[in-house]
Amino acid sequence: MSRFDFVVIGSGPAGRRAAVQAAKLGNSVLVLEKGRRVGGVSVHTGTIPSKTLRETVLNLTGWRERGFYGRAYRVKQDIGAEDLQARLHMTLDHEVDVLEHQFARNAVRTLRAAARFIDPHTIEATTEAGEIQLIEGERFLIAVGTRPHRPPEIPFDGRRVLDSDEMIEIAKLPRSLTVVGAGVIGVEYATIFSALDVSVSLVEPRASFLDFIDQELIQDFVHQLRDRGIAIRLGAKVAKIEFEDERPVTTLENGRRVRSEMLLYAAGRVGNTDSLNLEACGITVDHRGRLKVDPRTFQTEQPHIYAAGDAIGFPSLASTSMEQGRIAACHAFGLPMPPAPEYFPYGIYSVPEISTVGLTEEEVKAKGLAYECGIARFRETSRGHIMGLNTGMMKMIFAVETRRLLGVHIVGEGATELIHIGQAVLNLKGTLDYFIENTFNYPTLAEAYKIAALDAWNRMARG
Ligand SMILES: Cc1cc2nc3c(=O)[nH]c(=O)nc-3n(C[C@H](O)[C@H](O)[C@H](O)COP(=O)(O)OP(=O)(O)OC[C@H]3O[C@@H](n4cnc5c(N)ncnc54)[C@H](O)[C@@H]3O)c2cc1C
Repeated sequence: MSRFDFVVIGSGPAGRRAAVQAAKLGNSVLVLEKGRRVGGVSVHTGTIPSKTLRETVLNLTGWRERGFYGRAYRVKQDIGAEDLQARLHMTLDHEVDVLEHQFARNAVRTLRAAARFIDPHTIEATTEAGEIQLIEGERFLIAVGTRPHRPPEIPFDGRRVLDSDEMIEIAKLPRSLTVVGAGVIGVEYATIFSALDVSVSLVEPRASFLDFIDQELIQDFVHQLRDRGIAIRLGAKVAKIEFEDERPVTTLENGRRVRSEMLLYAAGRVGNTDSLNLEACGITVDHRGRLKVDPRTFQTEQPHIYAAGDAIGFPSLASTSMEQGRIAACHAFGLPMPPAPEYFPYGIYSVPEISTVGLTEEEVKAKGLAYECGIARFRETSRGHIMGLNTGMMKMIFAVETRRLLGVHIVGEGATELIHIGQAVLNLKGTLDYFIENTFNYPTLAEAYKIAALDAWNRMARG
């Protein structure tokens, strides 16, 4: 039996960051990964593939130039699935290469095997060839992530009805697409395919979607999506999905039928904890296979077993998973860590992208705080003119009494990068005056911060 100070199950963002951190603290570390290559959902089926697809689509369609040259403008005519896949594979190979190098540099051992506990300190690791090894660990991190929820009544066939893992490997671009589930993943894919001029219907059982985003932003976003012809069907559950003439037809409970060439079912994910035999170490999971942890230390019910990343639920982002993994490893090996800052950014890589940090206007109202908002449109900035932007907005919210920044909400080009200025000011407890007093590079979209702050300042002055 081999023995390690730290055994990490899963090589996604949480596992990767935790393993490297523990190794840097001088521990022997083993990462167990059951997938063919290291990197997790983030590298192989989630974050990086979908963002590569998005970037490829925006480049090949000439999306960013359409403000100048019109909606019919295209850099490449006849974009096919092979065009999208070529760049995807290059990017993923590069990501895996960087990760393997990082493990090697830090003497992190990896084993391609599926892990299951046989007691609180021992793992049984089974390789693809069926060989079994027993591994003893002093401390563990469960970072097994999630997989798409595949209800038995949905006729998945990997070709016409797919989950989000399958979506990145499609052999042919559809002319029409139904996306069931208007969560982050569904909205990203719906808008990316719409940018390819695929006719898209977005179906969501609830009456609203992306409810954690400031509603003024969502209104602007929905307006842009409808303007592009995306059919948004809210407030009706899916009654059934069946094939008619080889095409998936979605019947909603209100009787409406939505036909398309392809259907992406993106309604939720479940934790990969079912095969870990957690009963052997007395750890329980919720109905979606998610683990409960101490939010400051990431310890499970067993103090020497930590869990991080999507396997513990909200917010289920690669960015936050990495930080959780690092905090867990530091705690496990006695390096005191301050708690993570209160506000982290949320990035939705739809077309257009959305990013947000801090409180929404709805949350500020619910707290009963006196506040004022400031709005900037990207078309008010010189950089926006240069880029031909007709859309894009930033909203900032400030407390009236203290002038403290409470939240920043952006929809439009560069939102996921721009947000970090707001995040820094927010977590450093800055005020409206930071934006008024400081000089910003010109011409940049970041100038929107000054414009929105001045707008809020004017409104405050008017009382
Ligand atoms: C389509 C899509 C787009 C996304 N876009 C973004 C984005 O833009 N930004 C962002 O921040 N986040 C994004 N996410 C979320 C992000 O991918 C996840 O938050 C992140 O991958 C979670 O990391 P993790 O370390 O918890 O686990 P994962 O990345 O899920 O990795 C878990 C690993 O554990 C392995 N494993 C599971 N069970 C076992 C076992 N028993 N033994 C050994 N190995 C095992 C799996 O094979 C897998 O490799 C996206 C997700 C999806 C699906």
